[in-house]
Amino acid sequence: MSGICGGCRCGAVRYVLALHNLPPTYACHCTDCQTWSGSAFSQQAVVLEDAIEATGPITVFELSSPSGRTSRQRMCAVCHTRIFNTNSARPGVAVVRAGTLDRSNELRVTAHIWTRSKQPWLDLADGAPSWSEAPPPEDMAKALGFSRD
Ligand SMILES: [Zn+2]
Ligand SMILES: [Zn+2]
Repeated sequence: MSGICGGCRCGAVRYVLALHNLPPTYACHCTDCQTWSGSAFSQQAVVLEDAIEATGPITVFELSSPSGRTSRQRMCAVCHTRIFNTNSARPGVAVVRAGTLDRSNELRVTAHIWTRSKQPWLDLADGAPSWSEAPPPEDMAKALGFSRD
């Protein structure tokens, strides 16, 4: 398989991203991400949903927000590693849990969001854009190197 590969902790789910290079990633320091990841922040990559080809037993957890948006979290049905999610607010776009990439040790974090709830021991590298809460979508797209077409 060519592309950027990843998978869950137990190996039952594998996926390929139709990309030539590792995607840029961002860190979300919100308390939901801290709880969900069991860690200080979540590291994620934004890709087109069509660019993900996953194999193996995937189960879906749906979470609706009060504003009516539905997040669909895809996880391994065996070990429950979260792999990626989509959101009804952004059709066609998927957010991949960057730590599931085989080459996660090579990733760069190009933006930090929700730093308002960042854990205090964590120092962020100079120069990476950061926002205390959620950034405007166009600013985030720019930070991740996406153009508008
Ligand atoms: Zn698994
Ligand atoms: Zn978050």
